[in-house]
Amino acid sequence: VPTSLGTDRGAAVELEAVVKTFGTHRALNAIDLTIKPGEFVALLGPSGCGKTTALRALSGLELVDSGRIVIDGVDVAAVPTNKRDIGMVFQSYSLFPHMTAIENVEFGLRMRRVAASERRTRAEEALDMVGLAAFAERFAHQLSGGQQQRVALARALVTRPRVLLLDEPLSALDAKVRVQLRDEIRRIQTELGITTVFVTHDQEEALAVADRVAVMRDGAIEQIGTPEELYATPLTPFVADFVGLSNRIPADLVDGKVVAHGISMRLLGEPMDDGPITAYIRPEDVALANAGIRATVVASSFLGSLRRTQVVLGDDSRVSIQHDADVRPQLGDVVFLKLKGAAVSAVRRTS
Ligand code: ATP
Repeated sequence: VPTSLGTDRGAAVELEAVVKTFGTHRALNAIDLTIKPGEFVALLGPSGCGKTTALRALSGLELVDSGRIVIDGVDVAAVPTNKRDIGMVFQSYSLFPHMTAIENVEFGLRMRRVAASERRTRAEEALDMVGLAAFAERFAHQLSGGQQQRVALARALVTRPRVLLLDEPLSALDAKVRVQLRDEIRRIQTELGITTVFVTHDQEEALAVADRVAVMRDGAIEQIGTPEELYATPLTPFVADFVGLSNRIPADLVDGKVVAHGISMRLLGEPMDDGPITAYIRPEDVALANAGIRATVVASSFLGSLRRTQVVLGDDSRVSIQHDADVRPQLGDVVFLKLKGAAVSAVRRTS
């Protein structure tokens, strides 16, 4: 890491009961979020859930109605953006078109009245860090989308902010470049130790890049955890559906246990009253077996290293399973399934 880009460490960042309304719509509904110094947190959720508003509240681009926004112990809710010690990258490339790459990167330093010679050195180091040292004199229109986002990243980091805010920075890029730049953002973030908040609606991207993922819904965080925790233990149907695939299996809650097709599983999370429920179960937690739940194959598709097969159970519910690609169920085949998981976390009351 170039020394000129080093931060002492990332800042601790906290949202406390932050409310933001637009007219009568509560875009942020008393949201709470605590981010550790140097942590990489993704805000994940469907369109309109308030991800961008949360990021803009952190940045100061949006002033909030109430609540605290705390950076390293200081409430910055009333502090303007340029005094918050943050760097930002947006979805649209937003480079100044009349400036070269290096002039774009230098811009923030110029605003901070850093001397010209130091400006140049630091901007060169920042461009080097994002792999664009050779492109310093190019204008935006002479750079690919991925290169423009690299310049935008260098521009955000050159002022040595202690928090980096990224709003869907990869959405406009094609699939391959997306993955490359995603990995590179993570590498640079780890090297610099900068606290990072990354907004995305793409669950795969969030799981791949973040230390923790906050799943947002209706202006609040529905669940926050490591990618592994969210995937293995989604605590609500919304999270189970939004992160990865889930089967919805009709079941009953009996003495606090989830019972489906004669199989009893532990209920994780909030206890519920006994009665009919829908259990959310991952495809890989259902397996083909020699005996068990009887089902009929209705579709099967090859996914490379594995195959995904859809079956219909006796109660007409549809279940998706994953298995070795060399097992090839035919349409109409009768197969048997077993549930592998000993526990279920996400369930919904069935009326
Ligand atoms: P997207 O991925 O579509 O941007 P998001 O999760 O980032 O979604 P926000 O942009 O934060 O969602 O918007 C949250 C809600 O607040 C939406 O209903 C949106 O229409 C509304 N909203 C956001 N900005 C404004 C604004 N300036 N004026 C009025 N309503 C707004």
